[in-house]
Amino acid sequence: MAAQSKDFYELLGVQRDASGDDIKRAYRNLARKFHPDFNKEPDAADKFKELQVAYEILSDDTKRQQYDRYGEAAFANNGAGQGYGANPFGDMFSSFFDDFMGGSRSSNATEVRGDDLRHDLELTLEEAAAGAEKTIKYQRLETCDTCDGSGAKPGTAPDTCSQCRGTGQIRFSQNTLLGTFHTTQACPRCKGRGVTITSPCNTCSGTGRSRRTVEKTMKIPAGADTGMRLRLGGEGDSGVNGAEAGDLYLFLHVQEHDLFERRGNDLFATIPVSFPTLTLGGTIQAPLVNGSEELRIPEGTQGGHTFTLKGRGIPDIRGRKPGDLNLTVHAAVPTHLTLEQKELLQRFAESLGEHHEGQKGFFGRLFGH
Ligand SMILES: [Zn+2]
Ligand SMILES: [Zn+2]
Repeated sequence: MAAQSKDFYELLGVQRDASGDDIKRAYRNLARKFHPDFNKEPDAADKFKELQVAYEILSDDTKRQQYDRYGEAAFANNGAGQGYGANPFGDMFSSFFDDFMGGSRSSNATEVRGDDLRHDLELTLEEAAAGAEKTIKYQRLETCDTCDGSGAKPGTAPDTCSQCRGTGQIRFSQNTLLGTFHTTQACPRCKGRGVTITSPCNTCSGTGRSRRTVEKTMKIPAGADTGMRLRLGGEGDSGVNGAEAGDLYLFLHVQEHDLFERRGNDLFATIPVSFPTLTLGGTIQAPLVNGSEELRIPEGTQGGHTFTLKGRGIPDIRGRKPGDLNLTVHAAVPTHLTLEQKELLQRFAESLGEHHEGQKGFFGRLFGH
């Protein structure tokens, strides 16, 4: 599960209405203070990462708006959140900092974390409302069984890389406006692995990982909606040299429904009710997303009237108040009446003072014919 995110404005020490320039200035000052190359306090690196995330969100107008609207909930929240369309804690880490520090990100090159993966998942409205257990199939890189991740053909061993002497990293110093940085980068010869392979494993071609199709079954919480994503920690690509695996992000899409229209957690539908029931009152079976429920129609209900069934919409994914179900009734006009039924209706019309010949009757009188 993702770490609890702090308020980004507080982190950067700016007001909620701070300008882009204010945010940039605040970030620069703090980033300089907490950069791991300058600050050896044990929590400096974490603080630095938090600052980068906060800056990445607040310096982008669209992301900032989403953050203002959804707050922390916009991030992975117990695995579910109103996603930004990408892992906010992933690739962005270095983007801005590299720009003005001249590419000074340090990393542990021999261990490379596996990539995060994306999988799109379609849900019906029924599944979104009730929650569902779904099985998905996707491809990911897994540690090669044949060579156990070493990349060398069984019976042979990888050679220590001559360029980095097995460390996987090349260290160098760089002068920038903010001072001298000692940085390490992945060794170009062995791509950070510390070894070179003379006889590569046939299964993985020496990469130590092979692509495999996996099946996962997971619970989708009730209240899921299009645009949300679920993070499955460690279910992405395997890492290199024992590094941790990436995550799998499920992007959810809820299909349109024939009857119900969804707006947030509220549902809207129009249902036919017979003319006698509307007139005399009665009870109907009102459709719910999953199932039905008795609904009392009071005497003299007009077509177009909307009944609101409190809490009968979609449950809230974060356990807040569920949505409502709004059912608008329209009078169902009967067709294929028998002769007897027609006569009954005729007599009924006449009792109201209507004549059903030509243009006369209710509308006829209304327009003075
Ligand atoms: Zn292999
Ligand atoms: Zn090397």
